Amino acid sequence: MSEGTRKKVRVAIDGPAGAGKSTVAHALAERLGYLLLDTGALYRTVALAAQRASIAWSDGEKNSALAEDLVAKHRLVIERDDGVGMRIRLDGDDVSLAIRTPEVSLGASRVSSFPGVRAALLDMQRREGLTGGVVLEGRDIGTVVFPDAEAKFFLTASAEIRARRRYYELVARGKADSFEATLADVELRDKADTERAVAPLKQADDAIVVDSSNREVQDVVEEMARVVEAREGS
Ligand code: C5P
Repeated sequence: MSEGTRKKVRVAIDGPAGAGKSTVAHALAERLGYLLLDTGALYRTVALAAQRASIAWSDGEKNSALAEDLVAKHRLVIERDDGVGMRIRLDGDDVSLAIRTPEVSLGASRVSSFPGVRAALLDMQRREGLTGGVVLEGRDIGTVVFPDAEAKFFLTASAEIRARRRYYELVARGKADSFEATLADVELRDKADTERAVAPLKQADDAIVVDSSNREVQDVVEEMARVVEAREGS
């Protein structure tokens, strides 16, 4: 297949927390020359904005109104850096790091359960994927955001392995609690994400399931890249 006949497609990567989605999605986007959209970052930013505005994460109405305001007034902005990645600005501040704390993770999980919050972020996600050549990473990309994405993956791994990865990530950042607490956090978030009424984490019927439990990142990325390349030519 020559470069000229390659069609840039939309790649959906869904799966539970800690399955390696961020790492794999980033490496895959680089390998394909695609952009990356980390949709979890948007929910995290809503949670952070709520915290800054002293809005409780349990308040559906206020969080939904907040999310709408953030999008409508361009208070939440996705910025592209030189590579495949992205940075997030909230009211002009680069919050790319501030949204990565365990506390904000929990807040993101809470605010993402409100239909109004999800609706407010939907168009923004669709706009980013419009032209193709994008890897979108999240929980409901293949089922809700882009049900017609050309390549869909459901990336998963055992809860133990996912917790271990997250734990080492937190240790590296000096933010670790105990391993047991990390495992409990992963299980709590899995439960919240799979049991919520709106856009629960579930695998699209036509998604390819990839279990990353005992595999090297590069190996997983290669498998996925081959699938995408086949779809680029069809
Ligand atoms: O992927 P990440 O851990 O950054 O996502 C943070 C939270 O945002 C998740 O726990 C999940 O509840 C929510 N989320 C979502 N839908 C997405 C992406 C993330 O509900 N597409």
